[in-house]
Amino acid sequence: MSNYILARENGRNIPREDRIFGISNRARSAIAKKGKDGVINATIGTLLDDDGKLVVLESVDKVFRELAPEDYAAYAPIGGLADFREVIQKAAFGDQVPGGFTEAIATPGGTGSLRNVISNYSAVGDRVLTSDWHWAPYNTIAGEIGRTVDTFRFFDEERRFNAASFSEKVNELLDGQESLVIILNTPAHNPTGYSLTLEDWDKVIDVLGRAAEKGKAIALVVDAAYIDFAGDEREYRRFLPKLSELPENVISIVAYSLSKTYTLYGARCGAMICVARTAEIADEFKRVCEYSSRGSWSNSAKVAQVILTRIYEDPKLLEKVSAERKKYRDMLLARGRAFEEAAEEVGLEIVPFDAGFFVSVPCDDPDALSQRLEKEDIFLVPLKMGIRISVASISEEKCRALPAAIKKAMDEM
Ligand code: PLP
Repeated sequence: MSNYILARENGRNIPREDRIFGISNRARSAIAKKGKDGVINATIGTLLDDDGKLVVLESVDKVFRELAPEDYAAYAPIGGLADFREVIQKAAFGDQVPGGFTEAIATPGGTGSLRNVISNYSAVGDRVLTSDWHWAPYNTIAGEIGRTVDTFRFFDEERRFNAASFSEKVNELLDGQESLVIILNTPAHNPTGYSLTLEDWDKVIDVLGRAAEKGKAIALVVDAAYIDFAGDEREYRRFLPKLSELPENVISIVAYSLSKTYTLYGARCGAMICVARTAEIADEFKRVCEYSSRGSWSNSAKVAQVILTRIYEDPKLLEKVSAERKKYRDMLLARGRAFEEAAEEVGLEIVPFDAGFFVSVPCDDPDALSQRLEKEDIFLVPLKMGIRISVASISEEKCRALPAAIKKAMDEM
């Protein structure tokens, strides 16, 4: 019997309460009762300062406050403002511009890009490929439009990128369907913090180059939501030129987001940027993605498109924004390192980590472990294969203390 009254299930399993929000609510009420020093709320996926306040780049906020009504009240064109479509490529690529034909379409955050790629580069019923450790909304986004997610093993026994599993899955899926969308969230992957190395990238390009010989349509999505919080912004973009080594039937699409990079989470702005071998493929990208935008959210919000354009018009302002972001990125990187070092000291295994908002700890019963930690006022997110700790939302001091508490809870279970 269906669990729905008037709504249709349509193959989806829709929980009554979003699990992360449920845990966050319990964390908030614990803080209300006991004060923030006695509670660790490492569930939140936004960057908070050491006092638990949302980090907002002041330099960006200033641009926001100086806007005129037509900068935010008017519609933007479906694919985004013309200037935005230029500057977003500078923001995403820096000086590591891949060769080939590029086009950018404005989307509501990285989420909108993911939705549009899946809807245009896979067929209904297709399986979309990503790593076993992944951001859970990929399943929701795919499921909403009649696709499912399949996974390869992200890491091998040596804790390295598992190119063999990636290759096996790519080929298996391509043997059973005419198109394949692959999502790689890197650098500073959610939920593990892993960043593909340049060697990992060479393997990805090699696997896809060979798989493309089957003549099918492949779309490689680089979900770059955390690219500006991984470390040196230029260094972490060095993989980008490799995208142009892919053959004609593999389109690369960078899903870039202003949510984290410009602390504009709620302004819902991002872009999907293609790297294509031919002008025809890039034109098609623009045409089909604009069409899909029209049929889902219509035009994206204008406000952050204007903000980004203003920032890039003024080199001094751009410098200021970058310097301010660097300050917070250094804070975040120090937290990640503190967690990693403390984990090593107490012998707590973590999933291969490089940088970013999250660290993951593998375990057999994530729900039981997180419930047990909740008793000690430690709030984390249980996933399928482990627990996720948001180092973005807790102080360095708490990052240093947490591994011992997790290890103790695991040992006692
Ligand atoms: N991809 C990953 C892995 C994320 O964690 C997020 C946000 O949390 C996004 C994409 C997209 O975020 P937004 O739609 O706010 O750009």
